[in-house]
Amino acid sequence: MKVFDLSCERGHAFEGWFASAEAFDEQIARSLVHCPVCESAKVRRTPSAPRLNLSNAPEARPSQPVAKAPGAQTTAMPTDTQLRALWLEAARHLVRNTEDVGERFAEEARRIHYQEAPERGIRGVTTAEQRAELADEGIDVFSFPIPAAAEEPLQ
Ligand SMILES: [Zn+2]
Repeated sequence: MKVFDLSCERGHAFEGWFASAEAFDEQIARSLVHCPVCESAKVRRTPSAPRLNLSNAPEARPSQPVAKAPGAQTTAMPTDTQLRALWLEAARHLVRNTEDVGERFAEEARRIHYQEAPERGIRGVTTAEQRAELADEGIDVFSFPIPAAAEEPLQ
């Protein structure tokens, strides 16, 4: 599975998932890839931003670009159930794409910040005091409640 950063002739940026680079080329050649914003088929690749953990991208992703966003849905408020599902999905994404460093979070965040450790996403626990110290050093961290269900293997 390949993820490409794409943009259309009007500069709308979006992301497409393809089975392979060849599949991408073929779909572009046949104008099958459309901008989700303006529906333009004049789409090109933009240089990819650094991305974590691509090899663990979920297999269940569709091979077509995940780029169809019907305008009607963007204005509707999501329901509670949808919000919960989004939250769980976001939490699962975090769990999949971060390394659990537990109590060592503050120390590890600092090492990454000062380039003493490989740059990567980490998660763990901190005290309010540790977070304040990290913020003082200009190290951005954020808190996200991880539901227990997100730690369970995907089925
Ligand atoms: Zn567009």
